Amino acid sequence: MPALTKAVALTKTKGVFIARVHTGPRHAQKPAISAARKSAFQKILAKARVERAWYQDRQMMASQAIQNAISKRQLVKVDDVAGLVRIVHSTGGPSGVQYPYLTPESRGLLLGIAREFGIRRDALKLGKFFLSITSMTRDAERQEALRNEGYPAARQSTHGFGEAFDINVKFFRRNRHPHYRIILDVLAELHRKGAINFIDETAINGALHVARNPNYKGPLF
Ligand SMILES: [Zn+2]
Repeated sequence: MPALTKAVALTKTKGVFIARVHTGPRHAQKPAISAARKSAFQKILAKARVERAWYQDRQMMASQAIQNAISKRQLVKVDDVAGLVRIVHSTGGPSGVQYPYLTPESRGLLLGIAREFGIRRDALKLGKFFLSITSMTRDAERQEALRNEGYPAARQSTHGFGEAFDINVKFFRRNRHPHYRIILDVLAELHRKGAINFIDETAINGALHVARNPNYKGPLF
């Protein structure tokens, strides 16, 4: 009877053992976020703590504040760069760029990373596959909506004031390992230098998260 005993879970509640019989997926209640996803998200949150310190717990901006920052050019537009960068715009769902804007410094960081990626890619004569950017600036309203819809999103994020972006690497991981290796190396080098915080979020959203360290003044490469 090993199969049957496996299906019975004993839980001790207030000194009484209660047997719960698991009768399969038909009766199983599906949680909004799986346990594995939750644990991966907790690890990501822990790694993002350094960013909260760098930016002294700065709050995410609401949509109106972002519009103001754009008009004052505190946030600047980031465009596609042929053969190097493609911005994946949001179509209203959870993924994609809501505002294709970053601070001038973070825009410079993104372009510097892309340039270095291109130099190393071309030196190895690899195919001209570009970096796919799936997140830049996001407003507080959007973040709240994501949380309400059950997506793992931090309460506060450097995405909320234009100091972070995500590079989606799903395609590289599946099809182009040399390209994947290059972008990992480039980001790991910047991370070691203290220029960025780099979080591998591939378990959650297929992306590598990059946030600029405002205290770093040295060269990128
Ligand atoms: Zn991110």
